[in-house]
Amino acid sequence: MARPTVTFLGGVREIGGNKVLIEDGPDRILFDFGPSFSPRIEQFYVDFLQPRSASPVQDLLEFDLLPRVEGLYSREALADSDLPYRPPEIHGLFVSHAHADHAGYLKLVDPEIPVYVGAGTRQLLDTIESSSPAMKYGEHAWKVFEDRRPIRIGRLEVVPYPVDHSIPFAYGFLVRTSEGTIAYTGDFRQHGPRAEDTRSFLAAAAAEPLSALVTEGTRAGPDPRRDLSEEGVRGGVDRVLHDRASLAFACTYPRDVDRLCTLHDAAQAVDRDLVVSTRTAHLLTQIAPMFPAGTVPVPGRSPGVAVYARKKRRNFRWEAPYLADALGADTLRAHGSRYLLALDLMHFPELIDLRPPRGSPFIHSMSEPFSEDDVDDQVLHNWLDHFGLEFHQMHASGHASGPQLLEIVRSLRPAHVYPIHTQHPEAFEKAGPRVRSPELGTPYPLGA
Ligand SMILES: [Zn+2]
Repeated sequence: MARPTVTFLGGVREIGGNKVLIEDGPDRILFDFGPSFSPRIEQFYVDFLQPRSASPVQDLLEFDLLPRVEGLYSREALADSDLPYRPPEIHGLFVSHAHADHAGYLKLVDPEIPVYVGAGTRQLLDTIESSSPAMKYGEHAWKVFEDRRPIRIGRLEVVPYPVDHSIPFAYGFLVRTSEGTIAYTGDFRQHGPRAEDTRSFLAAAAAEPLSALVTEGTRAGPDPRRDLSEEGVRGGVDRVLHDRASLAFACTYPRDVDRLCTLHDAAQAVDRDLVVSTRTAHLLTQIAPMFPAGTVPVPGRSPGVAVYARKKRRNFRWEAPYLADALGADTLRAHGSRYLLALDLMHFPELIDLRPPRGSPFIHSMSEPFSEDDVDDQVLHNWLDHFGLEFHQMHASGHASGPQLLEIVRSLRPAHVYPIHTQHPEAFEKAGPRVRSPELGTPYPLGA
């Protein structure tokens, strides 16, 4: 009998874009399906230059930006491509978490293929879809799984474990095959508020006969960027806000709920309200019921959180409930010391109306740029310089550090390690000789 295999159809020597195919006899399942953040995509598609919605697969296959897999894509997505439509030959697609690089190509997938997600991820995808016109995930046979409850697909058994990451409801998986178990980490860290989840996933993996560890390696290899724990971010924000009389600013990733909670707590401690965009207000409102009561601030219901009304000619219908009591630039300008405004780079023109006093603090609570010629970073600093804002870098990564990754590999002792979601798979070789730096599209047999 043929051995089960694991094949990497994306995420190889690139950050994001994981597409992990596991086959055992006739049974085939896939983990994650989104675009990578690699410069390879941006060689062809950048900003508003994107694949045509009438023929997305054709436009991506042209540059080998998608795997040529039959029985995976929908008839509609395949329009005009040279890949023939076939009824589903993939028996389940598991989504580890709701970040775009793991879920962003779901809309291309045949709606007959069951898509397995956690309840929180399902809610997040719905929320993102309803408030971001550009994000569509398509119709699917959704299957909502429960934490740690095994799902049987033919010979395969998949057990989802919650892990800590910079978006809530992220999962790692144990996949039991006829030749031992594959542990797939998804994206994870162990220095955030749900570190205990990661530890119990790794403990469960350690208790299995591990044929393969498929691990993310975002921060493997050289990484000069500074990193804090979530508590470290809180301490830093406290120091910046202490004794300040002016309006304060912060920018974060839009779905980093932990960071929004940290900013809210820090603002509350100095009698400021956290002021968020309508999109963030929508996110917090939609997902708060999935957290213990009172832990996620909800505009209009929780103390210390308000909504900012940007200057716009037209608002979307979903924004209406959040705009009823929203604060405008006038209020924030007049009473700056009462507020901490979460302001995205793309909304920086608001600064022209906000006119913060020079020296007002701006907390950049996102990853430092990868490269020194990062255009967005240059633009951000141009604006901060123009308004005389004081820049503070403070971030806790969503990913385990290089040394932590090596420690995990050493302690799990899998037969083989396949590093993906990294530009430096070779950095794992320090952990031992069992590291296989995967090639795109090569099936690796388990137990061999
Ligand atoms: Zn990712």
